[in-house]
Amino acid sequence: MLLPKFEFHEPETVEEACRILGELGEKAKTLAGGTDLLVNMKKKLLAPEHVVSLDRIASLAEIDVSNGTLKIGACAKAADIAESKAVIKEFPALQTGASKLGSPLIRNLATIGGNLVSARPAADFPPPLMAYGASVVLRSGTGQRTVALSDFIEGPGQTVLLPEEILEAVLLEKPEAYSGSAYYKLGIREALEISLVNIAVSITTDGPGGAIKAGSVVMGSVGPTPLLSPSAEKVLVGEKPSEALFLAAGEAAAMDSKPIDDFRASAGYKRAMVKELTKRALLQAYERVCSE
Ligand SMILES: Cc1cc2nc3c(=O)[nH]c(=O)nc-3n(C[C@H](O)[C@H](O)[C@H](O)COP(=O)(O)OP(=O)(O)OC[C@H]3O[C@@H](n4cnc5c(N)ncnc54)[C@H](O)[C@@H]3O)c2cc1C
Repeated sequence: MLLPKFEFHEPETVEEACRILGELGEKAKTLAGGTDLLVNMKKKLLAPEHVVSLDRIASLAEIDVSNGTLKIGACAKAADIAESKAVIKEFPALQTGASKLGSPLIRNLATIGGNLVSARPAADFPPPLMAYGASVVLRSGTGQRTVALSDFIEGPGQTVLLPEEILEAVLLEKPEAYSGSAYYKLGIREALEISLVNIAVSITTDGPGGAIKAGSVVMGSVGPTPLLSPSAEKVLVGEKPSEALFLAAGEAAAMDSKPIDDFRASAGYKRAMVKELTKRALLQAYERVCSE
């Protein structure tokens, strides 16, 4: 399959990329790893007149920690995120998500920014990032804005990103003491698999053996966007961690999920998996709290 014809731009700075996108508007598409964009162009689903590559902008691939905030450049690859010491130490759910995405070949190309802008309901980056309360920095030629990730994704393939903007970075605050998190992805195969259900959780307790003071459960593949479960949060907060509590949180999350029947699995099966995986993820997250 051949790519349709387009004009190729290779800016070397974020400012230059924003200027080009500002001038071209909807005629242009931003290119990062190309694992979604080029596939869609080859399938003739998209035919932009201009493609603006971010590959030469070194600053967009950086992963930095400063003043308790982890900043992941939009062009950081899944493989680099999975191997980042800062991510492994503080954000294990994100590390698992990055290491489960696609295959080694895909992980060496796929970027975090491209994954978020593609906004696929089954994508591996949004649930762990949302469980940590991540936000995204969007930049255009006229300035920048920071948006909570939960407000960024609006529907399948839909985000609040404007044609003249690039997603510049993802921001994560370092979790408080006595926090733990985990990510579970269920597919039919082990690798190169679109999730049937994916669950990310994060909890913070008052201290060793203490009550849960903050908890979030985010469900992927069971709604048009990744879904935060307010009912699971209500079950968790203020209670002492236990397997029975985590099971109750799983039941609450299943009630908040909105799966549909499709050729891969029934809605009922997916809801049952939300319940089970939420429980397992919470148990693993709590083990991580205890091993601090
Ligand atoms: C074989 C295969 C297996 C896959 N398996 C998985 C999987 O298991 N889990 C999963 O989550 N995904 C999977 N994917 C999907 C894909 O790899 C990811 O969505 C990837 O992270 C997209 O990033 P990219 O850098 O390749 O984006 P691109 O393809 O370059 O871009 C994707 C979209 O984002 C836009 N874009 C990219 N970067 C920016 C930016 N910084 N600012 C503004 N717009 C931007 C592009 O214009 C385009 O619309 C798979 C894909 C393939 C081909």
